Amino acid sequence: MKIGILGGGLTALTIASELNIDYEILEKEKECGGLCRSIIKKGFTFDQGGHILYSKDKETLNWMLNQLKENKHKRKRNNRVFVKGKKIKYPFENDLAGLPLADNMKCLYHYLFNPNKKPSNFKEWIYYTFGKGIADVYLVPYNEKIWNYKPEKMSMHWVEGRVPKPPKIDVVKSSLGINTEGYKHQLYFYYPKKGGINSLINVLESKAKLITKDFDVKKIEKKEEWIVSDGKTKKKFDKLISTIPVMDLVKSLENVPKKVKEAVQDLKFNSLIVVMLGVDAANISDITGLYVPTKRVGFHRVCFMNRFSENCAPKGKSALIAEYTVNKGDRFDRMDNKEIIKHTINGLDKLGIINKKDVVHKDVFRTKYAYVVYELDYKKNIKIVRNYFDKIGIELCGRFAEFEYLNMDACVRKARELSKRLNNEKR
Ligand SMILES: Cc1cc2nc3c(=O)[nH]c(=O)nc-3n(C[C@H](O)[C@H](O)[C@H](O)COP(=O)(O)OP(=O)(O)OC[C@H]3O[C@@H](n4cnc5c(N)ncnc54)[C@H](O)[C@@H]3O)c2cc1C
Repeated sequence: MKIGILGGGLTALTIASELNIDYEILEKEKECGGLCRSIIKKGFTFDQGGHILYSKDKETLNWMLNQLKENKHKRKRNNRVFVKGKKIKYPFENDLAGLPLADNMKCLYHYLFNPNKKPSNFKEWIYYTFGKGIADVYLVPYNEKIWNYKPEKMSMHWVEGRVPKPPKIDVVKSSLGINTEGYKHQLYFYYPKKGGINSLINVLESKAKLITKDFDVKKIEKKEEWIVSDGKTKKKFDKLISTIPVMDLVKSLENVPKKVKEAVQDLKFNSLIVVMLGVDAANISDITGLYVPTKRVGFHRVCFMNRFSENCAPKGKSALIAEYTVNKGDRFDRMDNKEIIKHTINGLDKLGIINKKDVVHKDVFRTKYAYVVYELDYKKNIKIVRNYFDKIGIELCGRFAEFEYLNMDACVRKARELSKRLNNEKR
């Protein structure tokens, strides 16, 4: 029996690392890693979107950390939210005293006396959970930016239980300036000492038995076996696991029912532009990640890579990435690399984060599939899609294959569970 694993990101490499069955990974790009890739240039290391290792699932977290052996360290999160020229500690509701007094008062008052009715969409959930003050000052503008989608058109099933509601006493304390930590599960995180998040990929890749890169899966047929082609070469498999985006998988198949094609078309996602900057100044910030809700600039988050690991920048210099979520054709997507670099440098300079004359390295990376957007019909559409793949017998595993907001830990857990099940079925 031979299994074809479509895609060579974290999920595929994890599946391969635990599979006791013959397999081949088919990866479209010249390198594996997908969303977990890092670029190293002129001594600066940039992830293609800030990635840290953390999980509530201790077993999975330990599995990832064990892969890295000595190449990891533990760091304390110091994330901030940039509001009205101030860098408010994250979680925001635990640092209201950092706001101008009138905003602090507004956030506290509406948190304590919140008349909002039970929510039916993501925007209502924000108002219901945090009140009008925190919603207007931070959460609504920030979420509009990161999702690049109207929060009132998004479902809320994914946030319930994910974001804990802080006790009222903590919010009162935070408004008075008494320190509270709040939401703790990412307070400490792990990160590779060297090589960026891609180091985890390198380890897994070095263990994989067979990977074919530069193989863009374009056509899949089911005869007696599965036949997978990139338009030049055909490969035969007894079973298929797909970790590639489900919309691309559907395109590669023939005779897909209209209902399934329509459901896939209605799934929403957004893309990511990462602007990477090397700065000739030491320790430009003690912040790890800065959330930027203001519409004055297009990026929604800045990650200070050398706060993840000092090895991400040469001595005396700093590395940062600015992230933009975009959809095809909108303002920042239409900007060419030169324009978006200029917008980023000017924006960071205006916000007082860098001095633009210090920038010594600049580059851009674009990713088509970055975030799953849970629009209101998501659950209905994804059920149709998953039922179809169950029926034809292709296993879906991973962030855009399952079309779920899965972080690395969830991808690894699901990948290992799948390998275990297939190993058992073989016996
Ligand atoms: C900005 C950002 C920040 C994140 N931060 C964190 C974080 O801090 N912590 C965390 O735990 N998680 C984080 N994540 C999530 C994490 O990146 C994903 O959970 C994980 O990388 C998904 O892995 P995957 O293998 O399922 O998918 P992908 O990484 O998307 O891999 C899919 C692979 O399939 C390949 N492929 C696509 N089409 C084809 C085709 N037709 N033929 C062959 N191959 C194909 C792609 O090239 C890619 O290599 C973040 C994600 C983003 C976007």
